[in-house]
Order: sequence, then structure tokens, then C-alpha cells
Amino acid sequence: MYIYLDGDYVQEQDAKVSVFDHGLLYGDGVFEGIRVYDGKIFKCKEHIDRLFEAAKAIMIEIPLTKTEVEEILVTTCKKNTLQKGYIRFVVTRGKGDLGLSPDKCPTPTVFCIASDISLYPAQMYETGMPIITASQRRNKATIVDPQIKSLNYLNNILAKIEANQAGVPEALMLNHDGIVAECTADNVFIIKKGVIYTPPIHVGILDGITRSTVIDIARKVGYTVVEKEFTLFNVYNADECFLTGTGAEVIPVNSVDRRIIGEGVCGPITKQLLEEFHKVASCDGVAVFE
Ligand code: PMP
Repeated sequence: MYIYLDGDYVQEQDAKVSVFDHGLLYGDGVFEGIRVYDGKIFKCKEHIDRLFEAAKAIMIEIPLTKTEVEEILVTTCKKNTLQKGYIRFVVTRGKGDLGLSPDKCPTPTVFCIASDISLYPAQMYETGMPIITASQRRNKATIVDPQIKSLNYLNNILAKIEANQAGVPEALMLNHDGIVAECTADNVFIIKKGVIYTPPIHVGILDGITRSTVIDIARKVGYTVVEKEFTLFNVYNADECFLTGTGAEVIPVNSVDRRIIGEGVCGPITKQLLEEFHKVASCDGVAVFE
């Protein structure tokens, strides 16, 4: 496997980063996860834009232009003959000393992996997935804004551990005020009486690219989509519930905290959106192979 690392394409065993890298020491850095469908990088521009915005928010100057980042994404896929899979693009604060200060990190570390990802069992895309609500609350936007896709995922990992302990693949996270926010690496949607609801960004969530894609698709096929705060009561009593994310794609939820959602299967609107999503995903994107 070829990995891009600071200007070179190297084999995995040669892709080495310093133990003094602040990405490793402090989770100080940003990243993107991007899907490749049918030899095309899905929502490439949107992911690159979000990467640069996250870097700006934490004052990392990415030592590349957006065009150069796109070239690296394409070349990493090409070198690994990746037609379908998942790209991870990471920018860390770089190598520093054992203090926190970014002043001691002159050059960001940049690497890119093109591989695969499979977050949930395949059959759950048909049957739906059981989830629980984590007691761990999502980071408050006024403290560390979840819009920053940073290398520090401890908040989400602690919620994921709760899911693992409960024997389900995913956990729903509430914000500080008990409002439904998102899952550990996915955005959440509910459907009630034919209307689709998803939490607004200001409750403290990542502005998911799959979330925006699904909102656009749903509106195009004629559904009303409302970005509105809601509580667990609304989730428990929804007709349908599904999650979206680059890794997760669109996955139905069949129970939340042991409350069966709707009929306890993938509901009809979720099924339609899932199909529409796959149609869009396979015909849209930056081509890897000419
Ligand atoms: N929320 C969180 C916390 C995430 O990490 C992600 C990305 N895996 C998402 C939502 C979904 O965002 P996207 O659709 O852009 O992948």
C-alpha cells in the first residue's frame, strides 16, 4: 500500500511519523474521511473546503493549495488502484517538543491513506441497526466546536465505548442541554408523518457532507426537510430514523434504547433515500482514472 507522507509516496512500513508529532502527543490536527465510488472521489471539493476551514479554526496553515490536496487524493488512489474505498487525509500540527505550544512546531505533517472502511455489519443496512443513547454528552460548541473535525475524538470514543458495552454498534449523543446532537461519527435524522427532521448545526454537531447530500436528495424527490431541535422523546416516537456519514453512508436505525422505531425495520422513506444516495454517489465526483 502506498501512503502519501510529506511530499513522498512511500510503502506503509516506511510511512513513519515522529513520536514528537503533536497530532500524536495532543490530538492537535485535522482530518477528512472521503469515499471513492466507481473510481470517482465523492464530494471532493466539499471535503477539501471543510479541511481548510477546520485548519483555519485551529490556526494550522496547510502547506499545500487546495488543488495540490486534490492531486494527492487522486494520486494516492491511483497508486493503490483504488476504484472503491475510503481516503483518510490528515494534517497534524507537526513535530514539536513535549510542551503544548504550537510555536515549537514549524511544519505540519501531512499524510494520506487510501484504503477501505466498514463501520457496521452489512446486513444492518437492510434490517436497521439498534443504537443506545450515551451518557457521554457531545462537546459543547462554545468549548471545542464539533464543527472542527480534529484529531481529538475522545468525546466520541467514550460514547462508542458505551455502545460497545451495551452490545450495539453505535451511540446517540445529546448536547449539553439534552437536545439530540449526532452519533459518534454520523449525523442523525428522524422521520415523522412524512417530514424529515435533523438537528441544526448550532446544537453542536459536525456539518456532515453526507447530511447535506441527503438533505438535497430528499428535497429533490419532494420531501420536506426541517433542521430543528428535538429530544429523545421525538426519536423514540419517530416513524423512521437513520444515520448518515462518509464511513456509514446511509444506515437505518431500528431501535433506540430498546424502543422500537416504527415497524422495527428499514422504513420506506429511508429505503428510498438510501437508493437515491447510491445513485448520486456512483455518478458524481472527481475521476481518479482518465
Ligand atoms: N459526525 C461526526 C462526529 C463525524 O465524525 C462524522 C464523520 N464521520 C459525521 C458526523 C458525518 O460527516 P460526513 O458525512 O461529512 O462524513
